[in-house]
Amino acid sequence: MSSASEKAAIEIRGVSRIYGAGSDKVTALDKIFLAIRENEFFTLLGPSGCGKTTLLRLIAGFDFPTTGEILLHGEDIAPLPPFKRPVNTVFQSYALFPHMTVAENIGFGLKMLGKPAAEIKARVEEMLDLVHMTKMRDRQVSQISGGQQQRVALARALAPKPKVLLLDEPLSALDYKLRKEMQIELKRVQSETGITFIFVTHDQEEALTMSDRIAVMSNGELRQVGTAREIYDRPADRFVADFIGESNFIEAEILAIRDEAASVRLANGAEIEASLPIGRPDDSKVTIVIRPEHAALTSAGSGNFDGVLSDAIYFGTDTHYHLTLDDGTAFIVREQNSRASAVGHPKGERIGIKLRPAAAQILGG
Ligand code: ADP
Ligand code: MG
Repeated sequence: MSSASEKAAIEIRGVSRIYGAGSDKVTALDKIFLAIRENEFFTLLGPSGCGKTTLLRLIAGFDFPTTGEILLHGEDIAPLPPFKRPVNTVFQSYALFPHMTVAENIGFGLKMLGKPAAEIKARVEEMLDLVHMTKMRDRQVSQISGGQQQRVALARALAPKPKVLLLDEPLSALDYKLRKEMQIELKRVQSETGITFIFVTHDQEEALTMSDRIAVMSNGELRQVGTAREIYDRPADRFVADFIGESNFIEAEILAIRDEAASVRLANGAEIEASLPIGRPDDSKVTIVIRPEHAALTSAGSGNFDGVLSDAIYFGTDTHYHLTLDDGTAFIVREQNSRASAVGHPKGERIGIKLRPAAAQILGG
């Protein structure tokens, strides 16, 4: 594909970053290949220590790859120092100057670049408007709330018109409600400015709801790159299936393969249909993944298989039923609550589990 929106803003080619040597050696990034498109809201998602910040630092120019290269709009940026890269960063800590006003903070980078005063003033007004902070322009940043400081940090980073904005867990210091509000704000600002955003989070829900595409990382490696739906519905491997959302894993054996699906026998003896991963499994012993919301409770003997209830956890919006299958495998069913929901099942009750269509997938990798 070669439409304008498919053009790569950033291309990471075989990038590794190795710290230390000998027994202190840490492979923070292990031969990463990745193309991030223009105007994309792209998210790096993974647990703490998987290499997200390292990758941002390499793109920003605060650090250098051990191997590989980084291209910006097709050009190798290795020779460019950070301030010459059309890239800016919003840090988790905001890193604002507490004794300057909101407006002075936003204009700071432009002043450092030696821009004329009139141009700085106009651009600061534009940025204040973009992040809805015009009324607060003369406040000191020590006198505004965390959410407002976040807006100022965003405005300051956007003021020099970077082509790419790097955001390193910018929302993790905010409480839940404010985080939700800022998620919407960030999306709005990204679509209004058309700048490529590379957003880092360890929060899977944040990644799923905000991103055009997500790269799931673990241990310095990319495990999967795709849209929220691709990653959630077709996890490439067990790590991704486990990290993104909740999953039931069941050992199984393939009995027969048809076009897109296979008949499998689960460890508890039940025979079900399961969809195949992209590469055909080379072994008949496989792992099946089933999302908890793709199963429902029914009376014993009338579902695909039975389980014994060990716990029911009420979450307000839904209830998670923890069951044990006949072979000892743990299985969770998630049912949405309503005011009319049954009061519940007693622990120890034998209950049927009915799978929704296409619920079961054979894991690749
Ligand atoms: P994340 O941002 O995903 O939490 P980081 O990119 O900060 O992860 O770190 C990736 C790995 O590299 C971690 O194991 C971390 O301890 C290590 N690391 C990061 N910076 C350095 C450094 N300057 N020296 C040695 N190890 C480092
Ligand atoms: Mg980090």
